[in-house]
Amino acid sequence: MENISRINEKCFGCKSCEQNCPMHCISMRENAEGFWYPTIDEKNCVECGKCLKTCPVENTELHRNVPLTVWAWRNKNNVDIMKSASGGAADSAAKAVLQMGGVVYGAAYDEQFVVSHIEVKNNTEREKIQSSKYVQSDPSDSYSKVKQRLAEGKKVLYTGTPCQIAGLYAFLGGDKLNLYTVDLICHGVPSPKFFKKYIEYQNKQTDGQIIYFNFRSKDKRGWGTQYLLKTKTKTKTKTLSLDRYGKHFIDGDCYRESCYRCPYANTSRVGDITVGDFWGIAKSHPEFNSPMGVSSVFVNTQKGQELFEKMKPFADIEQATLKEAVVKQHNLVQPSNRPENRRNFYKEIDEPDFVSNLKVGLQLKARIKAVLPTKWIQRIKSL
Ligand SMILES: Cc1cc2nc3c(=O)[nH]c(=O)nc-3n(C[C@H](O)[C@H](O)[C@H](O)COP(=O)(O)OP(=O)(O)OC[C@H]3O[C@@H](n4cnc5c(N)ncnc54)[C@H](O)[C@@H]3O)c2cc1C
Ligand code: SF4
Ligand code: SF4
Ligand code: SF4
Repeated sequence: MENISRINEKCFGCKSCEQNCPMHCISMRENAEGFWYPTIDEKNCVECGKCLKTCPVENTELHRNVPLTVWAWRNKNNVDIMKSASGGAADSAAKAVLQMGGVVYGAAYDEQFVVSHIEVKNNTEREKIQSSKYVQSDPSDSYSKVKQRLAEGKKVLYTGTPCQIAGLYAFLGGDKLNLYTVDLICHGVPSPKFFKKYIEYQNKQTDGQIIYFNFRSKDKRGWGTQYLLKTKTKTKTKTLSLDRYGKHFIDGDCYRESCYRCPYANTSRVGDITVGDFWGIAKSHPEFNSPMGVSSVFVNTQKGQELFEKMKPFADIEQATLKEAVVKQHNLVQPSNRPENRRNFYKEIDEPDFVSNLKVGLQLKARIKAVLPTKWIQRIKSL
């Protein structure tokens, strides 16, 4: 049949097709691993081809751009930067668009720690989309809402993984007036079901109910990859590579299948602006490095340049090169490798002990790093 059924495992799960089918015969369903894919009610499909026309997998070259300029970015506001994952560049973009009277879409937790894209209308809500949620965020019906907002004449910023940004452009049929996009450097997403099981595991471990979770907390050891969780009575923090979920997120044996052949794992970018962690900053611009975090920012389009000008007052910035920003960024060069154990990773996901049976390993280097004073680590990095 001439419809989305031919996309199979290349599907990013963006939900553009579901929101576009005029016959409403596409529904997104979770597979056994917990990733959603489209299923089609074939009897009602009229083979109009709209789902294929608006699928990013079929349109991977839509809105692709080579960065015009590259910057190191450090938010000037200490409260804001501490809540952000790296230097707070995505947050500054959100602030700038809200200041222009627009709305912002980004990934947020709900009370059960399910992650989905929400609309942010003011600075109080902005905090919800700060920091990285290392799980696939549900785009839900956000593309339809964006279309509606643009029709109302509103400025819109959409932030997300490159495949989500590509899904939005495919959904809208290309770039639109008043639309700004920020994509993330992205190495892949675990399934929402895995993250749900992990939260349940942490609830048990802490003998409570998690009320706060941050994959990229800077509270204890500054900019890095430490999570912090809170229940009403306890707080817990750990380096991600020593954690049952974090270790597998970093190793990449739990990603959505599309991530291992990601067409966005290179420097041809889909967003007007790209943001990521400037991991190589300690060597390339040591004086600009900060324990609060530094983002790399790629300005990819003219619209990206306009947005960048509005964001600039919120940060200290320094021009850099693409070569410097690519350091320690495998996913600006090629997609994540698919480890051998990916095949069996989710096999036991429905077992009650799935998360507690996951192995973390000895991880000597990570264990040493976790106890060394942060200042020493910074010094070693700059050498
Ligand atoms: C799954 C994933 C993999 C990543 N891989 C890399 C990598 O390999 N290298 C790298 O340098 N950076 C990576 N990042 C990006 C990095 O973690 C930071 O998000 C980025 O540096 C922006 O930080 P910030 O301080 O500018 O943004 P903040 O102010 O902290 O804002 C965070 C932004 O990220 C968006 N976001 C958070 N979680 C998700 C999600 N699950 N799906 C979609 N959007 C989300 C929010 O909408 C928000 O706009 C990844 C992020 C995610 C979510
Ligand atoms: S071909 Fe048309 S009717 Fe069939 S699933 Fe796609 S959008 Fe729906
Ligand atoms: S990538 Fe998006 S539009 Fe294409 S099949 Fe998957 S969910 Fe549908
Ligand atoms: S690695 Fe590619 S396919 Fe996977 S979530 Fe990121 S952008 Fe999407």
